[in-house]
Amino acid sequence: MLGNMATAEKDQNKSARLYAQALELMPGGVNSPVRAFRGVGGTPLFIKSASGATLTDADGRTFIDYVASWGPMILGHADAEIVAGISAVAARGTSFGAPNELEVELAEEIVAAVPSIEMVRMVNSGTEATMSAIRLARGVTGRDKLVKFEGCYHGHADSLLVKAGSGVATLGLPDSPGVPAAVAQHTLTVPFNDAAALEELFKQPPDIAAIIIEPVVGNMGCVPPRQGFLEFTRDITTRHGALLIFDEVMTGFRVARGGAQDLYGISPDITCLGKIIGGGLPVGAYGGSRALMRNIAPTGPIYQAGTLSGNPLAMTAGLLTLRRLKDETIYRKLETRSARLCDGLAKAAAAAGITTTTNRVGSMWTSFFNDQPVTNWATANTSDREMYGRFFHAMLDEGVYLAPSQFEAGFVSIAHTEELIDQTIEAARKAFRTLRKGAGE
Ligand SMILES: *Cc1c(COP(=O)(O)O)cnc(C)c1O
Repeated sequence: MLGNMATAEKDQNKSARLYAQALELMPGGVNSPVRAFRGVGGTPLFIKSASGATLTDADGRTFIDYVASWGPMILGHADAEIVAGISAVAARGTSFGAPNELEVELAEEIVAAVPSIEMVRMVNSGTEATMSAIRLARGVTGRDKLVKFEGCYHGHADSLLVKAGSGVATLGLPDSPGVPAAVAQHTLTVPFNDAAALEELFKQPPDIAAIIIEPVVGNMGCVPPRQGFLEFTRDITTRHGALLIFDEVMTGFRVARGGAQDLYGISPDITCLGKIIGGGLPVGAYGGSRALMRNIAPTGPIYQAGTLSGNPLAMTAGLLTLRRLKDETIYRKLETRSARLCDGLAKAAAAAGITTTTNRVGSMWTSFFNDQPVTNWATANTSDREMYGRFFHAMLDEGVYLAPSQFEAGFVSIAHTEELIDQTIEAARKAFRTLRKGAGE
């Protein structure tokens, strides 16, 4: 079936029609901005169905998918066990607004897997998780300031939508109209992987409540922490009475079962989760020590609530996913296949005379059109976006669906067989060759 993709008739009518309709009904025709293909040009594909490692669009074309709904689909799409599980649970009611057994079971799985979490609160998205984690950090420290890193994304809460300033920022500027300057000024930004900048920031009066960090960045493309950098964030927060928040919404159960904190052996105070723990349904969570988490209502004064939080549908999808991920061979397989993919892509680029820099941790990766190491936002931002856009479309033509932006991570799932990976590499060989032609060589 996949073999026919390149030759399948390219009737984009249905996607194009839906997009035109959507543009009248939703801002940009989408419910989340990056989906609109602004980062690569062209018009988005409307997806009709997904199965395993593939997506099928409204016009019946099938693609090998490396977006994985931006991370959650580590088992592949429409996994039979999860589909059966949520169908059975749905028949018994989709939300009770009262406690249920599945919440306890998922909490148990998370606490057992993530080293620093003793107690957890479920929410409905990663955005809610980070927003609530920050409230908790501010609430317990009695401080207002927050440190984040340029290019890290932590959802769209006001405090976190702050522009990457140059050098050591003193006052944050809002990234988006509608974020009051009075809120943004409490968010300080420094370059990722820059211990000296962090040290400088902490020389101010002790008003920093927390550092929030993607321990392996996925949201400027994949950027791993330098050796010792996460240790440094742990050390400096401890020294200054601030909390360390690991935003593991993407890395949790992705780079290792216990997340980046397990992989690198660092214990944050608060951990944010999402994506994989919802198994493809809307979920987020935040957790930490019992002492810390008991500050949350109703045991403590810090308020946070949710009508659909802990609903049986999302809990079931998450629970079945996390149970499957107990099989240790899964992470080894993901590692082998992701390495095969990234090596293949790099070689295919080199063979076409194109320089790329590939960053990868486990099954999350990014190939940057960049001849320099990519270690932070400033270096990521020197990547050739225009070239990425052309590569993206050339890959689409070959039946491979990559993230529609240079600054996103790609994901390999257990449904990506070696065969599909080799097919992807073959597609890339052709795509890179068309780039050279496009460059007039
Ligand atoms: C996806 C993501 C979020 C936001 O999660 P949503 O469910 O989209 O609100 C936050 N932090 C990180 C690191 C993410 O990758």
